[in-house]
Amino acid sequence: MKDYLTVIGAGLAGSEAAWQAAERGVKVVLYEMRPVTRTPVHKTENCAELVCSNSLGNNLPHSAPFILKEELRHFKSIVIASGDNNSVPAGSALAVDRDLFSKEITEKLSSHPNITFKREEVKEIPQEGPVIIATGPLTSPHLSEQISKLVGQEYLYFYDALSPIVNADSIDYDKAFFASRYDKGDADYLNCPMSEAQYYEFVRELKASEKVPFATFEKAVYFEGCMPIEVLAERGDRTLAFGPLKPVGLTNPKTGKIAHAVVQLRRENRDSSAYNLVGFQTKLTYPEQKRIFSMIPGLENAEFFRFGAIHRNTYINSPSLLNNQLELKSHPGIYFAGQVTGVEGYVESSAMGLLAGLSAVAKISGSSYGPPPADTALGALINYLTKSGSKGFQPMNINFGLFWVQDMRIRDKKLRNQKIAMNALDKIKEWDEGHPIAVH
Ligand SMILES: Cc1cc2nc3c(=O)[nH]c(=O)nc-3n(C[C@H](O)[C@H](O)[C@H](O)COP(=O)(O)OP(=O)(O)OC[C@H]3O[C@@H](n4cnc5c(N)ncnc54)[C@H](O)[C@@H]3O)c2cc1C
Repeated sequence: MKDYLTVIGAGLAGSEAAWQAAERGVKVVLYEMRPVTRTPVHKTENCAELVCSNSLGNNLPHSAPFILKEELRHFKSIVIASGDNNSVPAGSALAVDRDLFSKEITEKLSSHPNITFKREEVKEIPQEGPVIIATGPLTSPHLSEQISKLVGQEYLYFYDALSPIVNADSIDYDKAFFASRYDKGDADYLNCPMSEAQYYEFVRELKASEKVPFATFEKAVYFEGCMPIEVLAERGDRTLAFGPLKPVGLTNPKTGKIAHAVVQLRRENRDSSAYNLVGFQTKLTYPEQKRIFSMIPGLENAEFFRFGAIHRNTYINSPSLLNNQLELKSHPGIYFAGQVTGVEGYVESSAMGLLAGLSAVAKISGSSYGPPPADTALGALINYLTKSGSKGFQPMNINFGLFWVQDMRIRDKKLRNQKIAMNALDKIKEWDEGHPIAVH
């Protein structure tokens, strides 16, 4: 094992990983292929470029994204510090001036005495660790091929087709009912029944909705068998009722009747605190998803933990491949960080950069390392990446459904969230203090 760390990719995750290691006195060689080799979406040569929105997400006290940011602040995250230094007014979100934000990160990394910055595409994975692969959703084709050889091509994916996820507490159970089709097996699905009028209004709104255009590099995506719900609606007004919204075999126990159409929701986690809308992968904009999916009976007041999406995304099947230090089980010393691990979003990616950085530092210094507890935001993400079922594993952003909070069945949502937040921040401090590579 080398006594320095190699980080591939100076995006959100790679920048954070390099920074955390360098600040702990570890020498880092950081590779970034831009501007020599470009990606289809990055426009600059800056580190941690924000490729789309300039928002680092909700900063409203006690929201799940806020807790994650607070935990990162505790570790003096370069990404969140630069976000705070270069913020622009955006209500409850932490939005940033994207150029100032990524320039500050580039300057800090380039001038750090422990970091050697190389502008070069890495085409082969270094044989000797520790190395962190943080090449993101648009990992270069050469390196993707190498990753595929390393982990097995069945464990590397090239796009997301995500259905929205809602908070179980925000569903109206007077309207939705549990049943399995033809009563086969357990009544595992939650069903939202639609009358004929509600169905056709829903289809009309879907067809007229505002969509995010497919980027040219994403066009191939839906040939692979995952049609967006709105594309199905455009094929014919009855297509959905014969497809993902088919009602056959789903008798509503409250009325004894079969509805005209049924939206099915599937449990997202073991404690049933979140449900996903089956077959609702979509390119609708987020506000349109909120507006139109709230027309579904039972979801009028639904709180969306995650919106649906379909986009190009290179990521691995982390539950099969990684241990809780983000290290390949089959190749100790090789770590993954960022979106490529199966988290979704700028801050989540940075968070996985931070943890991969700490894991690699622990490896170099020969210290033992346990992951943060699962009732912290950082620990909840690690838990999701490494303990979810590997079948159908999909990228995820931070949300309360991921926190492991057994004894917090408090009815008042605000109070509950406050308690989860306070607990998480206490626990992350404790974890850091008990950690052999803590620096403060
Ligand atoms: C089109 C698009 C829009 C998105 N919009 C949003 C959004 O609005 N909000 C949000 O939160 N998230 C968004 N995401 C997700 C976003 O990419 C991630 O949240 C975040 O950028 C991922 O961080 P990362 O560090 O994993 O990857 P990146 O930030 O992409 O960083 C990876 C870096 O690795 C470099 N690289 C790749 N291959 C190599 C190689 N072989 N050698 C050396 N360097 C290499 C790349 O040039 C890049 O700089 C979007 C993603 C895409 C593709």
